[in-house]
Amino acid sequence: MPPDPLVSAAPAAGRRVYLETFGCQMNSADSDVVIARLAEAGWRRVDGVAEADLILYNTCAVRDHAEAKVRGRLGALKALKQSRPALRIGVMGCMAQREKADLIRRFPHVDLVVGTDQFAHMPQLLDRLGGEEHIVATDFGDFEDAQPVPARAEGVNAWVPVMRGCNYNCTYCVVPFTRGREKSRTPAQIEDEVRRLVAAGHVQITLLGQTVDAYGKTLGDGSTLAGLLRRLHEIPDLARIRFVTSHPKDITDELLDAVAQLPKVAKHLHVPAQSGSDRILRMMGRRYTVDDYRRFVERARQRMPQVELLSDFIVGFPRETDADFADTVRLMDEVRFAGAYVFMYSQRPGTAAANLADDVPVAVKKARCNHLLDLQVVHQAEQHAALHGQILEVLVEGPSKSDPQMLHGKSLGNRNVVLPRSDADGSARDPLIGRIVPVRVQRSTGLTLFGEVEPVAGTPPPR
Ligand code: SAM
Ligand code: SF4
Repeated sequence: MPPDPLVSAAPAAGRRVYLETFGCQMNSADSDVVIARLAEAGWRRVDGVAEADLILYNTCAVRDHAEAKVRGRLGALKALKQSRPALRIGVMGCMAQREKADLIRRFPHVDLVVGTDQFAHMPQLLDRLGGEEHIVATDFGDFEDAQPVPARAEGVNAWVPVMRGCNYNCTYCVVPFTRGREKSRTPAQIEDEVRRLVAAGHVQITLLGQTVDAYGKTLGDGSTLAGLLRRLHEIPDLARIRFVTSHPKDITDELLDAVAQLPKVAKHLHVPAQSGSDRILRMMGRRYTVDDYRRFVERARQRMPQVELLSDFIVGFPRETDADFADTVRLMDEVRFAGAYVFMYSQRPGTAAANLADDVPVAVKKARCNHLLDLQVVHQAEQHAALHGQILEVLVEGPSKSDPQMLHGKSLGNRNVVLPRSDADGSARDPLIGRIVPVRVQRSTGLTLFGEVEPVAGTPPPR
């Protein structure tokens, strides 16, 4: 792994940045770009606001809860800014894009509001701040597609956005407002970036898009996600490829065939169903029925019986009845997802659903949310128990968060696996990190599998 420029570069005086990222992996990837650009301009990342000359929040606007956290952070910075007027405070990401100058009206101590297509210009915007009191840069369409490879945090995985924006208009969702229209990067640009990331030591890449399975449509040259996967699969030393998130309407047979046929592509599909009720799906503007979703599950499992399916669900959408909710429970019972994210509906200003009364009481939303989460843990525990004694190909990602004496990795289907370290004293980087090893599952909880590395030849080390 080459030296991290953010750690090794000596910062110019007054060039220490604190950056906190909220929300999805797309935001993490955008934060990487900002940090890389700032590093080129002599900035160094620090761990706390107290040491920083610039504080940046990369924000999420999908639910009010995410925005409330940022409002809390910004409110708490008021006194710090009063005591250190030279301190710069910036808000980027989806909340910045949604609120624009309103953010500065509400929090006058914020200097900089930077939208989702403008963050790559962060150093230039900071330079301009010298002469202007506030800057609000939220225009769409100015994202530099041919961005140089940003420095990524050291690690096994690197996130690679392959498209930005979204052309769906789900009635509850702010993403089309905050991220704009769908636009895909070219396969050549993506391949170039992935090759550089692999050369820098990353063995897994995760391709990102709001509807990643729609990749290529806007290029108009026949590019598809299936074609992109086949192209990237050829890169030597790249061990694993993942992609998130897929829309049920865009999962083609061509894509499922590619996932099934390409050994490096994770047998894992994140395809949010959102609800098991046709009535609610119609009101959500999702453009598929529950039967369409069932057919997708069938098509995927015909090709890959072991494929792991992951879904998102929203509970408490306006007018959701007990019967609608029971339909969602039925879908979960039928499909048996390998994982599920469950969200309580949050009314977002400007969306079509905001015209409907948010009429499911919070207590009911909470109860429905807990019900689905509990059900999911039961399903996962059953699936995990069935894996006892089996050998999984696990990409070892690093030390386990709950027990640093153990390692953590992911199966080809994206299950969490914990295994013992291979080095005796645990003082150095374990040589298993970044390798795919065969692990025999010995026990499990609803969330995690525990196993031992099998003493047989597995997939050779990727590097
Ligand atoms: N593009 C992806 C898709 O269509 O599946 C996901 C985008 S969104 C950032 C991630 C998840 O947040 C969605 O799948 C949905 O379940 C949830 N979500 C979006 N808007 C929401 C809202 N207003 N209230 C609650 N959950 C929401
Ligand atoms: Fe939002 Fe729907 Fe687009 Fe996903 S597909 S980002 S939920 S509008």
